[in-house]
Amino acid sequence: MNPPSRRDLLRAGAVTSAAVLCPSPAAASPPPPADCAPPLGPVRVLPDDPRYADLVRRGNRRFVGRPDEVRVVGSTDQVVSAVQDAVRTGRRVAVRGGGHCFEGFVDDPAVRMVIDLSGLTEVYHDPRGHGFAVEAGATLGEAYRRLFFGWGVTLPGGSCPGVGVGGHVAGGGYGRLSRVHGLVVDHLYAVEVVVVDRGGTARAVVATREPTDPHRDLWWAHTGGGGGNFGVVTRYWFRSLPTPPARLLDFTVTWPWAGMDERGFHRLAGNFGRWCARHSGPDSRARHLYAELILSRPQAGGHTLSGQVPHGSRHLFDELLVALGDGLDVTPTVSAQTLPWLAATLGGENDDGKGWRLKVKSAFHRAALSDRQLHAAYRHLTRTDTDLPAGSVSLNTYGGAINAVPPAATAATHRSASMVLFYLAGWADPAADSRHLAWIREFYRDMYADTGGIPPDGAYVNYPDVDLRTASRPWSELYYGPNYPRLQQVKARWDPRDVFHHDLSVRPPGR
Ligand SMILES: Cc1cc2nc3c(=O)[nH]c(=O)nc-3n(C[C@H](O)[C@H](O)[C@H](O)COP(=O)(O)OP(=O)(O)OC[C@H]3O[C@@H](n4cnc5c(N)ncnc54)[C@H](O)[C@@H]3O)c2cc1C
Repeated sequence: MNPPSRRDLLRAGAVTSAAVLCPSPAAASPPPPADCAPPLGPVRVLPDDPRYADLVRRGNRRFVGRPDEVRVVGSTDQVVSAVQDAVRTGRRVAVRGGGHCFEGFVDDPAVRMVIDLSGLTEVYHDPRGHGFAVEAGATLGEAYRRLFFGWGVTLPGGSCPGVGVGGHVAGGGYGRLSRVHGLVVDHLYAVEVVVVDRGGTARAVVATREPTDPHRDLWWAHTGGGGGNFGVVTRYWFRSLPTPPARLLDFTVTWPWAGMDERGFHRLAGNFGRWCARHSGPDSRARHLYAELILSRPQAGGHTLSGQVPHGSRHLFDELLVALGDGLDVTPTVSAQTLPWLAATLGGENDDGKGWRLKVKSAFHRAALSDRQLHAAYRHLTRTDTDLPAGSVSLNTYGGAINAVPPAATAATHRSASMVLFYLAGWADPAADSRHLAWIREFYRDMYADTGGIPPDGAYVNYPDVDLRTASRPWSELYYGPNYPRLQQVKARWDPRDVFHHDLSVRPPGR
């Protein structure tokens, strides 16, 4: 089995047709259309049920849940009932959207009931005027296809079609269109959440960004506060969604490891970082270009740049290639093809890392990597004392329209980065866990040795890393910066019993 690269992981995922389900008739939801089919569920799946193994499995094989029950739901009412049951019987509950979490939050052995949103996948235009409604069990691929074919618009979200809207949006959501159109949450108008009050009663609440909305703080917490913190999101509403380019140039450039010495490695990665730093302003004309440079271990064969520009903007790609080649003696292979937007977005591959054990870490960067960091990256990628099958760090373009938003306007606070780095270790053998985890931990620690082993510009909550619990700065600062106390206030108000928690969840004030 070939190890999954970052590109494999991001581009992968089969896209299945969304079942056409009614909007929930819950009090907080819009009324269902008259000709609607009844919703799926609720279905109680117990451990001896043939469906159980599929429902507790996820892309990252390091984690497999063992809940007493998985409740498959298809309406807001059903979510309210499931949450109420869990609270009444004193069982810890967690919600599964697309199942793409990189940590074991949903699979924690203490979780006794998992609410699975597989029946909440509808995407429609809300007649009440809230905009486009996307139910939280839909995958990004389902949302992209429905929004595009239905209305010619899209979410500027992540590049893996199998990722769930449920967790992705709550954590901010960035993707190939974010440098032009911002994060997904920059378009979030409203959210419906099933919450539990101090008395233990579950109910659905709609919170909007309207300044006069008394629930506005709950909306704000879902603009980057992260999943599994405040309640179960049943749907998101978006207004002013962008139109994607009709066609785009999808490119892949590979610099072979053969002939790539440390000096060449420094040039390539350093040139990319400098290009990003020059072009991360909100008005940069290069904001139309998205790219990720995957620096891999030698057994991968080379370092790969992949990305896209709108059709007609090839010059941006050509300029990037010239910038990356500055002072570099290694000749890359270049392939580029023009594709319709949706075909390029959904991709042709079908592998979201299933079968691999994964550990990831992240870091925002305002500036290019320093020489010391480049040296550390080269050293760890070329280490010969490890048999890690897949190890890489991916440098992704960031900024552009993302950086036009003030850091406190949304819970997603990182609004001045030029890159987000994604560190990945992937392997198959459970017996190798500790040594491969050690590799990525040492790599990350050395990259940020000057700042106590942690990235000074913060980390991305949608790439959660439980190792940060023992970091030299509180993990909450890295993920949320100065927005964390405000998130704690929201927690106190909307989840006073801390029903929804996991290893990196927002803590009630004072904890
Ligand atoms: C292959 C791959 C590619 C990725 N690419 C990108 C990318 O390009 N850009 C990017 O920004 N991120 C990306 N991510 C990260 C992704 O956005 C997060 O992992 C996200 O949290 C996944 O959401 P999910 O619903 O699929 O996961 P789940 O595992 O179902 O949930 C993740 C967390 O959110 C909670 N949650 C899920 N649904 C809800 C809900 N309805 N209400 C409340 N809490 C909920 C869960 O309880 C859990 O704590 C990628 C991840 C993977 C595995």
